[in-house]
Amino acid sequence: MQSENTMWQQKWVIGNWKMNGRLQNNNALMHRFRVMPTVDSVLIGLAAPTVYLLQLHNAMQIVLNNRILTCAQDVSKFPDNGAYTGEVSAEMLADIGTDIVLIGHSERSLYFGEKNEIQRLKMENVLNVGLIPLLCVGESLEEREAGREQEVIADQLSILKGLNTKNIAVAYEPVWAIGTGKVATTDQIAAMHGFIHKEILSLCGNDVNIRILYGGSVNANNAAAIFAVPYVDGALVGGASLSYESFAAIINAAQEA
Ligand code: PEP
Repeated sequence: MQSENTMWQQKWVIGNWKMNGRLQNNNALMHRFRVMPTVDSVLIGLAAPTVYLLQLHNAMQIVLNNRILTCAQDVSKFPDNGAYTGEVSAEMLADIGTDIVLIGHSERSLYFGEKNEIQRLKMENVLNVGLIPLLCVGESLEEREAGREQEVIADQLSILKGLNTKNIAVAYEPVWAIGTGKVATTDQIAAMHGFIHKEILSLCGNDVNIRILYGGSVNANNAAAIFAVPYVDGALVGGASLSYESFAAIINAAQEA
């Protein structure tokens, strides 16, 4: 991984494959990344389904000289090995060379009922093994229409208080913008990213490193405008990370931002 200091200055572009991928397609995609010029100002990561993480990590080492970080989409809330059938621990993710772990993606909350308490346990497990958690927060359309978006985000961010880390990475992903093609306006993004920045300082202290990514229908056409918004330190990209062309274009936009 890049040096600690450098990565907290870079723009982060993390692809979230969700439940997509096949061995052969993944390999083909990794090989396409070989031609991508080195971009010093951008940290690139790919969050693959757990079964493909080792394949990805090996490909990063062998084909890509570690230019792309390996990210996991989730982790167990249980800290230790044991009788938890189907679970994958933070220690296992560290063992196979994972760098970053998404926590609390809205699809985990929507389909698996994960809320603050479970997310906090997962954050602690990830930090305890030296990996970087990327906490996802976002309001529903109903909450935004009721003018409650800041209240909702403040509640989701409250789990950051008292964590044993000086490095905080958050992805703001309005639920109504994920996979819908509806992007938040740059004014909405600016207001929320400014708010999140302030909240993190008040919860974690003024001396923390902070990255705040935007997520929600980011694509090759809108990325440059989003990266130009104050306090946007990168993007969490779903659908558009599945194709080399669109993901590379977003990385390019981050580099030029
Ligand atoms: C996501 O999965 O985190 C996401 C933002 O998806 P999409 O870019 O497809 O909206």
